[in-house]
Amino acid sequence: MFSGPFIKVNGEQLILLNILERKFVFFGVVFWPQDFHIFVLAMLTFIIFIILFTAVFGRVWCGWACPQTIFMEMLFRKIEFWIEGDANKQRKLDASTLTVEKFFKKTAKHTLFLLISFLISNVFLAYVIGLEPLIKIIEEPITLHIYGFSAIIIFTAAFYLVFSYLREVVCTVICPYGRLQGVLLDKKSLVVAYDYERGEPRGKLKKNTSGYVNTGDCIDCNICVQVCPTGIDIRHGTQLECINCTLCIDACDMVMEKINRPQRLIGFKSQEQISSKQAFRFSKRIYGYAAILGVLISVLSFLLISRSDIETVILRAGGTLYQERPDGTVSNLYNVELINKTSDPVKFELLPVEKGTSIQFIRKEDTIGKGKSVKLTFFIIKPQKDIAEYKSEIGLKVLSKGRTVEELSTTFIAPPNF
Ligand code: SF4
Ligand code: SF4
Repeated sequence: MFSGPFIKVNGEQLILLNILERKFVFFGVVFWPQDFHIFVLAMLTFIIFIILFTAVFGRVWCGWACPQTIFMEMLFRKIEFWIEGDANKQRKLDASTLTVEKFFKKTAKHTLFLLISFLISNVFLAYVIGLEPLIKIIEEPITLHIYGFSAIIIFTAAFYLVFSYLREVVCTVICPYGRLQGVLLDKKSLVVAYDYERGEPRGKLKKNTSGYVNTGDCIDCNICVQVCPTGIDIRHGTQLECINCTLCIDACDMVMEKINRPQRLIGFKSQEQISSKQAFRFSKRIYGYAAILGVLISVLSFLLISRSDIETVILRAGGTLYQERPDGTVSNLYNVELINKTSDPVKFELLPVEKGTSIQFIRKEDTIGKGKSVKLTFFIIKPQKDIAEYKSEIGLKVLSKGRTVEELSTTFIAPPNF
């Protein structure tokens, strides 16, 4: 995430989501508002992918890929442990009266949290407005970049609030993906689950002459609850608060090792696997999602491969029909707009497809700047003898570097040659 804005592909930032200029870059390929249909399809494909992924693996994204969890568990919570100690020490510190030690610990923690939030905020903005504009905001006087500077401050405050105070509330209350778990999961989904068939009836470990005895494998030590960042007891079943971080699995495995019982009393299992004691199987729903995803990926790939560098919109000039010329030809007047979707200037040529047809330009351009558009006005001229009907289709092609980059057709109106 931190290196992304510094990586350039085809002269463009690796990933840019510039909503303000409506410019999106993925791996060096620029997408403009004209590619909105591709963008919508890509979003739809991504949503179906998430649904499929969740139906199979549960909330794995939340525990292992979500930036909120990664920053929280790998950075902010580690700093908190480093400064204030483990969960028990933190509780004691919070409950104690204000001492010099408490003052310094809290100040150090919140100063570090603010600094990291400020750093994340800058990187986040680099993905939205681009690295170069961000560097300008940093280097130039604040008065020249009031909006940019305000955005950095607002994002810093938001990240600080999330990582210092809201924390798991984001996962359980605010995040829409978290709220959707109930409908995305079913009995065949792999989730972090407690094997109640093995664990119950739970009870404290008792010792007799032949060794440790208890009825179920769970010794009710509560360690799985203590390590859980969202504070839930997974033995009560799958809950909205579970972010699949697997800390309870590791903790319980350690307990099982100590008491000489098989591991994975808590593990990645489906409810069906636990109740029927059968191996994991895909449900029909999963095959259905996979089929839809396959179709969407195919269509998206086709659209991406066939996407042209230049997009053209051609219209017959309003209020005109046709012009009969003294040399025995007929002409129609057209306006055309050409949009350059690449990250380089493009030289082009507009030519008719049919032999005997010619173009006479009124307004001519032959170069489109990077990410810009040009408008041309021209007549298409056809010999009267070649015209058989009042309204016919006529083809044009746009050439760039000797290659056809766009083909278009429009209507041509003329009195038929009877
Ligand atoms: S860590 Fe394992 S043994 Fe201990 S309470 Fe949790 S499930 Fe039971
Ligand atoms: S510790 Fe276990 S129950 Fe708690 S969030 Fe992580 S995976 Fe879920």
